[in-house]
Amino acid sequence: MIKINDLKKVFRTEEVETIALNSISMEVKEGEFVAVMGPSGCGKSTLLNILGLLDNPTSGEYYLDGKEVGHLKEKERTQTRKGKIGFVFQSFNLIEEMTVFENVQLPLTYLKVKASERKKRVEEVLRRMNISHRSGHFPNQLSGGQQQRVAIARAVIANPKLILADEPTGNLDSKNGKDVMDLLTELNREGTTIVMVTHSQHDASFAHRIINLFDGQIVTEAQL
Ligand code: ATP
Ligand code: MG
Repeated sequence: MIKINDLKKVFRTEEVETIALNSISMEVKEGEFVAVMGPSGCGKSTLLNILGLLDNPTSGEYYLDGKEVGHLKEKERTQTRKGKIGFVFQSFNLIEEMTVFENVQLPLTYLKVKASERKKRVEEVLRRMNISHRSGHFPNQLSGGQQQRVAIARAVIANPKLILADEPTGNLDSKNGKDVMDLLTELNREGTTIVMVTHSQHDASFAHRIINLFDGQIVTEAQL
């Protein structure tokens, strides 16, 4: 499903040049559940953003379902992503002007799913994330953990083939963290491919494979 070759990402600001990813090559097979680990600043979010077509690499190749997508224009990236990739951001990225319900139904709106069906599916996923009672609230009225669960609901609502999750349990207590991991595991069993960044060894143990990054490079890989 995913194949990247010699991927590099360099961020240049006025004085500093940061090599966030330094010659990464990896594959993720359809149906796999991969955890990406490594210290702060090693390039995990940068990698996920590129895999999620939110950013382009500086050089190298990215094949998604056999198609080279590493150098698309923003509009083509959005088009390719729609309905196919669900993204859970490290910083949630909920739309502040929209209620929980509206945020979660957004991917279905893009896919032109009709209103009655949207309502049914949003209610179901909110129930699954234990956040139904907050459906009409705005993100700034929610705790970090609640926002996290809304972000996850939005990422999974359109049944994407690929879910990219950047520390999905990072802001959750153990009960909600367990619910999120149960949900991801269940989706994976149903066939969804998952790449998840985590700092938690416990969460990583749900994956089939762990990739360890250090200074923008893959240093070790472990099959579980
Ligand atoms: P964390 O665990 O803290 O989330 P991370 O592994 O996700 O860390 P990245 O966010 O991928 O790390 O960042 C990798 C490196 O690239 C860091 O040195 C970071 O400062 C730098 N970086 C990331 N995004 C940018 C940007 N937009 N402009 C400049 N530098 C950036
Ligand atoms: Mg990060």
